[in-house]
Amino acid sequence: MLLDDIFRAGVVGCGGAGFPTHVKLDCHAEYMIINGAECEPLLHTDKYLMRHFAGEIVSAAELCGQQTGAGRVIIALKDYYHAEKEALQAAIAERGSHVEIFSLKNYYPAGDEQMIVYEVTGRVVPPGGIPIDVGAVVSNIATMLAVRDAADGHPLTHKYLTVGGDIPQPMLLRVPAGISLTECLRAAGHEPAAGRQYVLGGPMMGRYVSGEQLEREVVTKTTSGILVMPERAEYTMPELQQMINRARSACIQCHYCTDLCPRHLLGHPLEPHRIMRKMAVAGTGIDDEMLQDPDIQNAAICCECGVCERYACPMGLAPRSINAAIRRMLGAAGIRYRKDGISTEPLPFREHRIIPAPSLTARIGLADYLSAHPDDCTELTAEQVRIPLKQHAGAPAQALVTEGSRVTEGQLIGRPPEGALGALIHSSISGVVTQVTADSVVIEREVGSV
Ligand code: SF4
Ligand code: SF4
Repeated sequence: MLLDDIFRAGVVGCGGAGFPTHVKLDCHAEYMIINGAECEPLLHTDKYLMRHFAGEIVSAAELCGQQTGAGRVIIALKDYYHAEKEALQAAIAERGSHVEIFSLKNYYPAGDEQMIVYEVTGRVVPPGGIPIDVGAVVSNIATMLAVRDAADGHPLTHKYLTVGGDIPQPMLLRVPAGISLTECLRAAGHEPAAGRQYVLGGPMMGRYVSGEQLEREVVTKTTSGILVMPERAEYTMPELQQMINRARSACIQCHYCTDLCPRHLLGHPLEPHRIMRKMAVAGTGIDDEMLQDPDIQNAAICCECGVCERYACPMGLAPRSINAAIRRMLGAAGIRYRKDGISTEPLPFREHRIIPAPSLTARIGLADYLSAHPDDCTELTAEQVRIPLKQHAGAPAQALVTEGSRVTEGQLIGRPPEGALGALIHSSISGVVTQVTADSVVIEREVGSV
């Protein structure tokens, strides 16, 4: 059964928070949507996969469609991805497949799960809801490849990723999970430097780390790229209190952050300018009383797309980062979003306010790096991997190996606690386990092992 294969292979959503795929697909849906938008600037991983593994992706989409009982299985990708579309259409024709192609406009964030559901189905996911609330399941391109491998009995041990941004030669790599990102950058000719900023994922929604922090970062099941940012101050993130202080003194309540917020434009009650206004009384921080405020609680339905912060705000303020901090506080306080399950209507002027992707890239200062379109993929091996036991939503896995154990590539090394949401973890190289902690398993390749 497909769900068992997917569980045994440790497949999680490769494009986001790493939700376990065997749980996501355990439902009945009308639409199975494969997200091929890859809407973050400078990432090329999914486009590469669509061009080179179209048959596998279409086959996996069919399997997921069967599993969910979806009447329509749709791969949604940007209108201008011509080569990718051709490859997928050829695969569909060759297989006589019922999988459909849907063309998305080139706007940001076309790949946001709720945007893609609206574009494909015309249905709006209710505030605080998930796609299945309107009969849809969304999975991404890299996950499809992992599902195909899982159906063939192969666990998820390797990742394709883009190494790009401010480097001489952006490239695509296939690497074992657990390899250090420093090694990936060196393979692309960039020597990591303490003073530089790097982003894990795309420049809008990815996680920014400094050169010093980068040393501790490794490729996980959800890594889609590592970008080197140009040497400019705006790519560094201030502390929360600094952000609150700036909001208090500089927010002019112009409303642009709300006007352009993609979730607000879907009709959701998220209004970042109101949250920023409340920061005026935040004083030394956001306290428990503030967390009871309905405007503040709406931060829970922010998708952290970054439009407000990196594109809309004329004062260089950080609504997205403040929302993210509030979301963490709401979670810690056990305050859940009061969803009523009622779908909203997109605002009538939404079409005129969506942001063309090239404008966004120019606004965030990355237009110079747009022309690179890497098409070759280099396979990288690792002498050592540090495999995190939590690469997914849910509980961390528990290590099944001890120091000194010999493991082979693909061997099971971690399992979530009985009954907990999570995913299995496998070794990505053959070698000897040299360290086991609550967080990770370190494996070193033995001389002579492949
Ligand atoms: S766009 Fe910036 S200045 Fe305007 S309301 Fe939003 S946070 Fe305040
Ligand atoms: S990050 Fe900003 S623009 Fe994006 S959903 Fe959240 S509030 Fe809206």
